[in-house]
Amino acid sequence: MPTRTLTHPPTPATGLHVVQYSGGIGSWAAAQRVAAEHGTANLVLLFADVLTEDEDLYRFLDDSTAQLGVPLTRVADGRNPWQLFHDVRYLGNSRVAPCTYWLKIVPCRRWLEAHADPATTTLYIGLDTSPRDRGRAPGIAAGWAPWNVRFPLLERPPHLSKDDLLNWARQLGLRPPRLYGLGFEHNNCGSTCVRAGKRHWARVLDVLPDRYAAAEREENRLRAELGDVAILTEQRGGQRHRLPLAALRQRLAAGGQP
Ligand code: SF4
Repeated sequence: MPTRTLTHPPTPATGLHVVQYSGGIGSWAAAQRVAAEHGTANLVLLFADVLTEDEDLYRFLDDSTAQLGVPLTRVADGRNPWQLFHDVRYLGNSRVAPCTYWLKIVPCRRWLEAHADPATTTLYIGLDTSPRDRGRAPGIAAGWAPWNVRFPLLERPPHLSKDDLLNWARQLGLRPPRLYGLGFEHNNCGSTCVRAGKRHWARVLDVLPDRYAAAEREENRLRAELGDVAILTEQRGGQRHRLPLAALRQRLAAGGQP
């Protein structure tokens, strides 16, 4: 895997500036703003690897960290989301996604506890200016206590759209992660995020059918273990129904809508 793993940050003269560096364009832009304001000597780019990322995410991590001159600090639980769902006997979905907590928050928090004094460390998260991200900010900040959390893209103008951020990267000579060009909003979990909805999964089937097939196999394996569970649900007749990936695929193959 072309990422570098550091077990220790640089020894800071003052505080650390730790960016949650996911491989998404938002966290990339947050790191750019932090580097511009504070320099890179005490900058840490903290990446939680969930082992199902798109291969081009690692290429972008390599390109962008090399350009900043800051090595990637990689943490990992060691399991991917499917393995986690098996272990906790719960299939993640849009309402509850235990993978976020166990595979991202816990490994990052362990690293912070070991290396980053809350009194002198600032943690940065690349939420964008969409209403959804704005709404999430207070809860996320509270969840990372006792570390001080900042949101560089929310707090300071200009407030940039996703396209602005992608163009910013291009202007600096970086090729954005390919999932954006394939029509996805986020560059995470190789497009197979269990929080995503039906239209997103229809796009996965359309542009990354092998990845959809792999996710469908994993979901079927979990259904065999756990019973009638599914990543997706939908409202029909005033009631919520589970919609397995196999059923969505068959519906789309028959000419139906997501
Ligand atoms: S991106 Fe989605 S599937 Fe991946 S860890 Fe986060 S919530 Fe889970």
